[in-house]
Amino acid sequence: MKLTPALIEILGQDISLTKPEYLAFPVYNPSNGKVLAYVREQGEAETKAAVDAAHKAFQAWAKKTAKERATVLKHWNHLLMAHQADLGLLVALEQGRAITEARGEVAYAAGFIEWFAEEGKRSYGRTIPAVAEDKQLVTIRQPIGVVGAITPWNFPLSMLTRKLGPALAAGCTAVVKPSEETPLCAIALKNLALKAGVPEGVIGLITTTKAKPVGDVLTSDERVKKFSFTGSTPVGKGLYAQCAGTVKKISLELGGNAPLVVFDDADLDIAVPAAILSKFRNSGQTCVCANRLLVQAGIYDRFVERFTEAASKLKVALGWDESSGIGALINQKAIDKVERLVADAVAKGATVRLGGTVAQSVGDLFYPATVLSDCTRDMTLFDEEIFGPVAAIYKFESEDDGISLANDTPFGLAAYLFTQDLSRAWRVGAQLEAGMIGVNDGVMSTEVAPFGGIKESGIGREGAVEGLEEYTEIKYLSFAGIGG
Ligand code: ADP
Repeated sequence: MKLTPALIEILGQDISLTKPEYLAFPVYNPSNGKVLAYVREQGEAETKAAVDAAHKAFQAWAKKTAKERATVLKHWNHLLMAHQADLGLLVALEQGRAITEARGEVAYAAGFIEWFAEEGKRSYGRTIPAVAEDKQLVTIRQPIGVVGAITPWNFPLSMLTRKLGPALAAGCTAVVKPSEETPLCAIALKNLALKAGVPEGVIGLITTTKAKPVGDVLTSDERVKKFSFTGSTPVGKGLYAQCAGTVKKISLELGGNAPLVVFDDADLDIAVPAAILSKFRNSGQTCVCANRLLVQAGIYDRFVERFTEAASKLKVALGWDESSGIGALINQKAIDKVERLVADAVAKGATVRLGGTVAQSVGDLFYPATVLSDCTRDMTLFDEEIFGPVAAIYKFESEDDGISLANDTPFGLAAYLFTQDLSRAWRVGAQLEAGMIGVNDGVMSTEVAPFGGIKESGIGREGAVEGLEEYTEIKYLSFAGIGG
């Protein structure tokens, strides 16, 4: 499967199907290892030029009314949805994702543009009762300025739109660097934005395989006022430190190690399908994926049996196959990691209930839904983000044991709990150390709610009103001498 004429038209001059004269790098289809297209290799100079352009464009974009910006953003949303099938195929081709999910990624991504187009109109300040008769105190929210953003490959559209949606709605301009694995999705997004009427310079896009020099400019240029990063914890920590030099406002969405806690009183008709979704969505390559399935002793055997049976129905197939439930992993490094973690767990006593070896008959980067039971605290996959379709199931005894096991990690992005007891749901939900808690819910991500982590999983929130506030500054005005 290749890029279709419709996709080639959307991607336009920014790609070449054959090796071009200019400096470029190949983008591979992970499902079959073939080159999809070549894109421009950009670096420090192009990033500086994009910041110049974004800085210039900021004045006019920030001056527009929120309603004017919303009109452009809504048009962008409509174009994304009009091309949902094309863009879904692009996600399947470039990222390896199963096509039905890939179309969902397009709608999810477009949702951020639509929602923030509206919410930009409600970027309210406050009036504050004054402390003196002749004073009036107010706050206003203003766009922060040029935004720098770096995103990963696992949601190649929505990781960008959940930064660009609120940034542009607030009146900011942005320079973004997508992952080297998925630049085509980013190019498609930008080209449709231009078509929708987003002015030149408002979105700068840097495609590169050399992330560091680009990150260095975005974190050190004083004209970049806000930096937003989604990716791995070590890289995020480095970028956080780099932002200190110019005291940038920062958002970080880093690694997770989500516990999914199933109590004895859980309803398995709810818990099993939710756990399947949470674990295997995007072949296990999401930062909110259930990384540790913690199951109470009384329900453990029944859960393992039903979960394994449900997981066995997920078909491993090429992303663009309509029946695919598990697509290709992103690259060989991902396969190596999964193999290393499974081997370590098995060596330490885990039982392989399902899967456990590469699905070579489909392709080198296909790993089937894998279920490991009898997992224990000393296994490496308790501490490391698996980022693949491997479910590790652990047994615990009391509620307190379940909570301490769940919290035994420096990460705190998502956590899930399953119980039919409302007071337990509340009690445990309050104690789990994570920014997002799914109560009998396996998929929580939506543009209308604040997404983000605590502990070493990050800083700030994306989506919802909190996501818009990340791109504004509060200015306080004190008016004196104006009468009571
Ligand atoms: P992943 O393992 O999900 O690829 P990374 O943190 O390595 O996570 O990558 C997330 C994003 O960060 C990608 O766009 C990548 O190119 C970028 N990146 C990686 N290293 C650096 C760096 N040193 N400076 C700036 N960006 C980086």
